[in-house]
Amino acid sequence: MPALTNPSEIAREAFRLLASRRMSPSPENYRALYHEIAGTSAGTAAPFPERELKALLSALPKDEPAQQRLLKRFEQAFKGKTWDELKRGLGELFAQLGKEQDLPWGELFAGFLRQWESKQAGLTVARKREAFERVLANAAGNSELLFTRLQGLVRSWSLNAPMDDEMSLVEEEKAAANTPGKASPMDGRAPAKAQESSAQAAALSAELSEIFAHSLEVLIPSLLQDEPELVADAKALAHKIRTATSRAAMDGLQASIKRFSFRLELLAEDRVELRAGLLNLLQLLIENVGELVVEDRWLSGQIEIVRDIVAGPLSIRSISDAETRLKEVIYKQSQLKHSLNEARESLKQMLAGFVDHLAEFADSTSEYHDKIEICADRISAADDIAELEDVLAEVIRETKIIQLNAQRSRDELRNAKQSVEEAEKRIGELQAELDKASTLVRHDQLTGVLNRRGLEEAFEKETARAQRRQSTLCVALLDIDNFKKLNDSLGHDAGDAALIHLTTVIRETMRPQDTVARFGGEEFIILLPDTPLEDAQTALVRLQRELTRRIFLHNNNRQLITFSAGLTDLRAGDTQASVSKRADEAMFAAKQAGKNRVLLG
Ligand code: GH3
Ligand code: MG
Ligand code: MG
Repeated sequence: MPALTNPSEIAREAFRLLASRRMSPSPENYRALYHEIAGTSAGTAAPFPERELKALLSALPKDEPAQQRLLKRFEQAFKGKTWDELKRGLGELFAQLGKEQDLPWGELFAGFLRQWESKQAGLTVARKREAFERVLANAAGNSELLFTRLQGLVRSWSLNAPMDDEMSLVEEEKAAANTPGKASPMDGRAPAKAQESSAQAAALSAELSEIFAHSLEVLIPSLLQDEPELVADAKALAHKIRTATSRAAMDGLQASIKRFSFRLELLAEDRVELRAGLLNLLQLLIENVGELVVEDRWLSGQIEIVRDIVAGPLSIRSISDAETRLKEVIYKQSQLKHSLNEARESLKQMLAGFVDHLAEFADSTSEYHDKIEICADRISAADDIAELEDVLAEVIRETKIIQLNAQRSRDELRNAKQSVEEAEKRIGELQAELDKASTLVRHDQLTGVLNRRGLEEAFEKETARAQRRQSTLCVALLDIDNFKKLNDSLGHDAGDAALIHLTTVIRETMRPQDTVARFGGEEFIILLPDTPLEDAQTALVRLQRELTRRIFLHNNNRQLITFSAGLTDLRAGDTQASVSKRADEAMFAAKQAGKNRVLLG
């Protein structure tokens, strides 16, 4: 019988043979007959259970990353579709797993930690972390590969020369940048040294954690008083930083820090927007006030300055300067408004009185006319002279009354005129008084720098700030040299212009945070916050140099202005008077020593 090739014919023949040989119809017997008819040799081999294996794999646990990795390796091993391939795949997997068990991970980790914690020339922590992360990424899912790569990394680190413990982080970074991949002979340090540096690193890291936690606890509440939620989060984060010891806790901490800083970023963006909005509003307000005060040159000048301050780069000082000047504007405006209202009121009263008199006068004249008319009638109707006498007497009486009225009105009118003139004069005087009353405002009207009242306020603010920040505050007193001579030879106006020139140079030479005030005629005080005495002296010498460079010109004549200065710093228990006195004494000593110099007091 020719060998059958069609599977359905083979199957039919196998059934036939089962019956004819009286064999039991089991799957094994059927399989054996089938292979016998088909002439295939694998008659005894069991079929490959692909479906069953798949079901088995899918039922394995895969919740943990390690389980998932293992499952992948099993799937890889079961990839072949025959028993032989499965045998080979499983054999390899087992061989590998066995080897992995034997890998000396403990030893490797000990070496890794040692190298991680010790400092090597040309290696920063950031670089080490980068290399480590690269190894982790490249060998993911293959622990044998991970082991070899990690071993290589530790060896390469150990080849770098050890670095002095004293070397700062900046130097460390520099060293890393200058000697990339520099290799030196094998690490020859004693293990004691490695242990010591690892202990130091651990202490340093604990210290850094504490600083970080402390900063969060202190800085966030002081910066974000109006954000109680963030403050509470900062405190919770600080607690986590102090208590995180396990890897899992560190991972959680990292996520919390990321979330926290993201919220801080959002808040910062909000605040920038808010600040811009407020500034716009302020600018709008200032422009409007500017429109209202166009008639007063001094006021519009002040507004102009405020507008400049707000338009420039803002600092706490520039804002407080703007506030001071706005306060002056408001103060002066209220003064002017008050006197203007007063003047208006008295004019109104005068006018009302005048109108009353006019009315009275008109009334009395029309009454007089009526009476005279009656008298005229009586005269034309009179029969005898005696009657006329009476009428005449009445005419004379009425005329006298009207005459008196007229005179009274004229006197009252003259008085009213005089009162108006007096009121006008008073308004003028008031205006002049206000302009002159520089003690009521905080800025000197000639030079625009602070006056004594302004200086008092600035001094209080600066001393409080210096005490709060425990920083130095220097105070300088400047007196122009031979100013009387300049005044006498060039005139008072030239003297004024020289004062303006000096203050302009001072303001442009000193830092924006320095305060300049006119202390008296040709004497000025400069407050230098956050400045050591030496630096303040350098700044004043720079100012002297600047004055010789930017020479004062009067009618095209060059006029050198010099000053003598006394410089001192704020000390414990100082008042404005005591510190000014010390500066004044030093200034006097500078005059005695030949002027045009700065002496310390
Ligand atoms: P020294 O070098 O010793 O300081 O001599 P000095 O001439 O500068 O000092 P003195 O105190 O004798 O004279 C100061 C002069 O400053 C007197 C006064 O006429 C003048 N002065 C004060 N205030 C003003 C002002 O507002 N304008 C002008 N033009 N002169 C002023
Ligand atoms: Mg003087
Ligand atoms: Mg002087």
